[in-house]
Amino acid sequence: MPRSQSTAAQRAREAQQQGGGKFTALLRQAAGGEPLSTFALRDLLAECSTSPLVVVDWDYHPDYDVRGPQMFDSELMGGPVPYGTVLALAGALSQSAMDAELLVESHSRLEGAVVRCEGRRFNLVLTQEMVYELCRTPRCHHHPVEEFDIPFCTAHLAERSTEELVRMARAWGYAQHETHSNDPGNATTGLEGTLLVRAAVARAAVSETLDVMVEACFQDPNLIDDVYWDADVAMAVRHGMDRERLRLEKEAKAEAARLRKAAGDSCTTCGRTLSRHWPGWNVPPQFCSTTCAPDTPPQPSEGNPWARSFR
Ligand SMILES: [Zn+2]
Ligand SMILES: [Zn+2]
Repeated sequence: MPRSQSTAAQRAREAQQQGGGKFTALLRQAAGGEPLSTFALRDLLAECSTSPLVVVDWDYHPDYDVRGPQMFDSELMGGPVPYGTVLALAGALSQSAMDAELLVESHSRLEGAVVRCEGRRFNLVLTQEMVYELCRTPRCHHHPVEEFDIPFCTAHLAERSTEELVRMARAWGYAQHETHSNDPGNATTGLEGTLLVRAAVARAAVSETLDVMVEACFQDPNLIDDVYWDADVAMAVRHGMDRERLRLEKEAKAEAARLRKAAGDSCTTCGRTLSRHWPGWNVPPQFCSTTCAPDTPPQPSEGNPWARSFR
């Protein structure tokens, strides 16, 4: 057994043997809020390739002729895991080194487990041979807006700093530029671009985010004629940029109106009625001015309008 492995799973097993009880609850208790287990990717793959098949009682009705996936009993994970799920995780982590550290954030026996690696989070489905990526915020169970370039769910996206939003917007814009390379005038940042701009409204970072994303998705306006020698294509790209910018600005205005309404149409700090006139994108919509706006906009949380699901 690798030395790095914690003994939470062992302690939980011992507690179950002595006093009974649900393994998952005991495991959580044994871990005391700490990661249930940590180990290297190499160790999990070694365990997967050398452990014998284990027969699992799925507690299905006898008439229900469904066989679960082929599984092995993983000491590292703290329970049975499908071989295929581990292999799918290895595929998702193919860019990571074999000594990358995996951390088990949660584990529900024969249901699912959440594993972290290098800031990424994965839901390991234990009833099928399947893995899917989760929002990078610890304990969040939502899908990211986009796995590679926008790795947070819609609610947690609004918690990111201006710098992070701009970085994501640039990466996503470039990705869409590549996707539409055969028809550059019709490029669009799509729903993902909309979600980035909505998050930027909450951060008072619309101008920076929108400029960077539209330019990455199309072209530096000063270089269009140099890059696209065909005048028709150059014109289509200019038109496409205007169209995309207009679309995203409309989305930003609608989101700002929604946030103002959620704040009761009055400044959250001083109570002054929020002007119908646009105070500018550098002020979060629920404040009347930069003076009233806090340095850090409010974070999304349960029951708070920032936490709205955008989908
Ligand atoms: Zn999230
Ligand atoms: Zn105010």
